[in-house]
Amino acid sequence: MKVNVSDIQEEGLLLEADLPIIINSGTKPDIAHVIIKIFRFEKQVLVEGSVKVSTLLKCSRCLKETLQPLDLDFREEYVPAEEGDREVEKELTNRELDIGFYSNDELDINEIVKEQVLLSVPMKPLCSNECQGLCSVCGKDLNEGACNCRKEEMDPRLAPLAQFRETLKNRKE
Ligand SMILES: [Zn+2]
Ligand SMILES: [Zn+2]
Repeated sequence: MKVNVSDIQEEGLLLEADLPIIINSGTKPDIAHVIIKIFRFEKQVLVEGSVKVSTLLKCSRCLKETLQPLDLDFREEYVPAEEGDREVEKELTNRELDIGFYSNDELDINEIVKEQVLLSVPMKPLCSNECQGLCSVCGKDLNEGACNCRKEEMDPRLAPLAQFRETLKNRKE
């Protein structure tokens, strides 16, 4: 979906749409429900949006793919890329807002939404906060039950106790 910047009227532009967004390259696009408000001040454009999309992500503990809902709000300013509006750019970089660029008088809404969605994808997705992950020895998914691997590492604080037990045992023999 594309918007011509010069078509944006003084009162702004409100868009609501379902847009196909490719979040994981190589998979089919996810449909993002998008509500966007666009305001224009001469050539500077302010985009406020909220996006809801669900996408398949691999759990960082058990490696199973699960559908993760992403729900985000963003606010970003855009300036023309090709006109060398360095003054505007300089002025904008001093502010807290993020700045993007558009060219040919055209805002590519799909690209803008995709950029924002990618920023909000978690670095370490989890299928659930309680995910038990995989056994480090046999690789079994511990969410499906415990495995038979014994935990070899002993808590170092318990080592003196184990030693004491050993001494007692030797005395008895
Ligand atoms: Zn998991
Ligand atoms: Zn195991």
